[in-house]
Amino acid sequence: QQDRVFNFAPGPATLPENVLLNAQSELYIWRGSGMSVMEMSHRGKDFLSIIRKAEADLRALLKIPENYAVLFLQGGATSQFAAVPLNLCQVDDTVDYVVTGSWGDKAFKEAQKYCKPKLIWSGKSEKYVNIPAFEGLVQSPDAKYLHICTNETIHGVEFKNYPVPKNPNGVLVADMSSNFCSKPVDVSKFGVIYAGAQKNVGPSGVTIVIIRKDLIGNAQDITPVMFDYKIHAENNSLYNTPPCYGIYMCGLVFEDLLEQGGLEEVEKKNKKKAELLYNAIDESKGFYRCPVEKSVRSLMNVPFTLEKSELEAEFIKEAAKEKMVQLKGHRSVGGMRASIYNAMPLAGVEKLVSFMKDFQARHA
Ligand code: PMP
Repeated sequence: QQDRVFNFAPGPATLPENVLLNAQSELYIWRGSGMSVMEMSHRGKDFLSIIRKAEADLRALLKIPENYAVLFLQGGATSQFAAVPLNLCQVDDTVDYVVTGSWGDKAFKEAQKYCKPKLIWSGKSEKYVNIPAFEGLVQSPDAKYLHICTNETIHGVEFKNYPVPKNPNGVLVADMSSNFCSKPVDVSKFGVIYAGAQKNVGPSGVTIVIIRKDLIGNAQDITPVMFDYKIHAENNSLYNTPPCYGIYMCGLVFEDLLEQGGLEEVEKKNKKKAELLYNAIDESKGFYRCPVEKSVRSLMNVPFTLEKSELEAEFIKEAAKEKMVQLKGHRSVGGMRASIYNAMPLAGVEKLVSFMKDFQARHA
């Protein structure tokens, strides 16, 4: 595809080229239905086949156990910051948050409106570059859940394994927005997993919730209908009009991930891309620097700075000229960030690395 760029944006993010072309080919008329997916009734048999296949493929990809429900919702991961406490606890209940970056912090702050969240660990004073040792965490014995963000999109910090809630009746809840479907995950370790689609699996507008079924049905009385997992589970995500086209696109991505051999294969590719980029940074003799502790560096979002920070604007400008875009770091942290989700081809990372070496040679 001649005119496409390598898009390193954090989300909305690059999508697989074959998925886009496939969608293009059936955009005008979807498989003999005489209309586009955007025009279909969400209750008609065509759309029902689309959403059911999307769910079945996601279940196959993540090996989601039978006792978990899969919901296709709207409102972004941000609405889950409220939906999780509203559905899992009453106002006086204690819950625990481990905050390893800005997104976990936002989730923690939102929960304060709906229950009694406790910040049991925060990486803020060290500028969010690490993850705590689980043995040292002091968890509340009665916490209804323990919340983590498995991949902090802005800071590039990723959990490589998961803490276990101390309360035997509590559950682990994870915001997986930015590493969803990037590697295999043992879903049974979690009570709730939620993710916005717009990084690894589709366009923005779709929010996926995977929840153990016995946790459904205890929402606080004030819970808006649109936030109530029970309503959406009972209606198979069709209580009201769902984001139909977005769900269709996610379905095409799930199909593509299965065709690639599933998440084990996808993880191998992601590891290879990330290793290439981190090695280039680490071998630059300090010209480039990634602040994140090595053992928890994200396979998805790679933040880095230039020793000569005055060159950062030039770096971003020159990269854009070579069709590598969206490399500017988040406004809260500065520097650069390369988001290399599933759909970023190895060739994109190779091109970035060779540009980085060339840029260094010219400016060292
Ligand atoms: N959590 C994480 C880890 C994110 O990266 C983002 C979006 N960048 C959000 C939550 C918020 O998602 P949304 O914009 O879909 O509400």
